Amino acid sequence: FKRIELKTQSKDELYKLGSTFNKMMDILAKNFEKQQQFVSDASHELKTPLTIIESYASMLKRWGMNDHNLLEESVEAIYSEAVRMQEMTKQMLMLANHDAEWNLDIKEVNLVSLSKETSKLIKNVYDQNISVYARYDRVIASADEQKMKQLLFILLDNALKYSTSSIELHVGYENDHVFLTVKDHGIGIPKEDIPHIFDRFYRVDKARNRETGGAGLGLAIAKRIVDSHRGNIDVVSKEGEGTSFTVTLPK
Ligand code: ADP
Repeated sequence: FKRIELKTQSKDELYKLGSTFNKMMDILAKNFEKQQQFVSDASHELKTPLTIIESYASMLKRWGMNDHNLLEESVEAIYSEAVRMQEMTKQMLMLANHDAEWNLDIKEVNLVSLSKETSKLIKNVYDQNISVYARYDRVIASADEQKMKQLLFILLDNALKYSTSSIELHVGYENDHVFLTVKDHGIGIPKEDIPHIFDRFYRVDKARNRETGGAGLGLAIAKRIVDSHRGNIDVVSKEGEGTSFTVTLPK
């Protein structure tokens, strides 16, 4: 990504052309760097479950056929790591072509019923309560329903992962937009980590999150969904007190 050396500051056409060229080169170089970082982070993330699968498979090959306990443990580990890899690759694929436009299927979506349906589904997996608060029966956004569902899944899943008490989900209108807030009373996010949580592969505490199995991609996808709807996502959090994520979308 070579830049042109521009010797004098002038207003002539050639100078303008040169500086536009340099700007383009800077953008290309930055994007290239981002892609490289993505590939390197992705390979790193996939290496861990692959190593676990490989080592269990090798143990099985050597002793597993005669050791029932080892057989059971290995099959369980291989299965859960494979599921984790599958989830991770799905998320990576969603983010990989970052600049390619998603084909959004925009319709009128009632965020109240969507919130109720999604929380009911997710409640079957976790043993925590999710309460939906809405002043109206219908809060309508022009949005892609599947993407909205995915966004809610990510925010609710995080709220449930990082807290033990009940979760609040608020839906409503405010000025010229609609909002969705997912609030938990869990561990919270340290102040210094807040600016990074929407970055790909960013996790506050790597050891802690290993147990919960995330690759740090959920919020990057959430941000991508919100951006593609020309909305906004904000977070307010305090360590030890809880976190709330608010999504606003044009009406
Ligand atoms: P992960 O799959 O690791 O949860 P995310 O991109 O969804 O990845 O989130 C990035 C990080 O932000 C998480 O690893 C976690 O440390 C932090 N985080 C996200 N949501 C919450 C929350 N509701 N409470 C506390 N920490 C959170």
